[in-house]
Amino acid sequence: LFIVFEGGEGAGKSTQVGLLAEALRRIGRDVVVTHEPGATPIGVRIRGLVLDRPADGAEAVTPRAEALLYAADRAHHVASVVRPALSRGAVVISDRYVDSSLAYQGAGRTLPVDEVSWLSKWATGGLKPDLVVLLDLDPSAGLARAGRRGDADRLESESLAFHERVRYAFLDLASADPSRYLVLDATNPIDALAAGILQRVRHLIPE
Ligand code: C5P
Repeated sequence: LFIVFEGGEGAGKSTQVGLLAEALRRIGRDVVVTHEPGATPIGVRIRGLVLDRPADGAEAVTPRAEALLYAADRAHHVASVVRPALSRGAVVISDRYVDSSLAYQGAGRTLPVDEVSWLSKWATGGLKPDLVVLLDLDPSAGLARAGRRGDADRLESESLAFHERVRYAFLDLASADPSRYLVLDATNPIDALAAGILQRVRHLIPE
């Protein structure tokens, strides 16, 4: 079973990933928690290339190069972490996956979404999640939350309009394939969100 969490900045993905993993382990499931970008040693180096703020005067990565770097991180992550865990029967929970590229590199950076989609399909060999949990949040609220975590500099380098395009891209993806998505309002209390997510996931797990 492959479960993905998606959402904008400060939506609380990592908190909910942790709570779901804990709940599934309590009922005896083998759970692998992972994330993109940067879940492998090679991924950490790619994450540095795309996310470390360039020093003054240094080159920033261009949009197509950025899309290829995220795709490279994903290809390596799927082949070396996700597929092996799924093959041994583990539940894999990933903080971000393909939809993040469609939203950030596609809608955000305004690359053609069908091309970014094709690239992700190639990178993953077509591996799709069984469920995508989308934690939806107004970007102005999310950026304030994420900024308190110390990411303010990097996040402020993108406009609010960028983050709004990202938000609506996630929502559009969810409405195009509703049976595969659980869309939740991320302003709800942590416990209520966790309970809703666990209930949905338990339907996917054979007793
Ligand atoms: O989820 P996490 O906070 O680790 O993501 C780090 C950053 O990477 C996010 O702020 C997001 O802006 C960026 N990102 C991206 N494109 C992706 C995945 C993440 O721009 N495909």
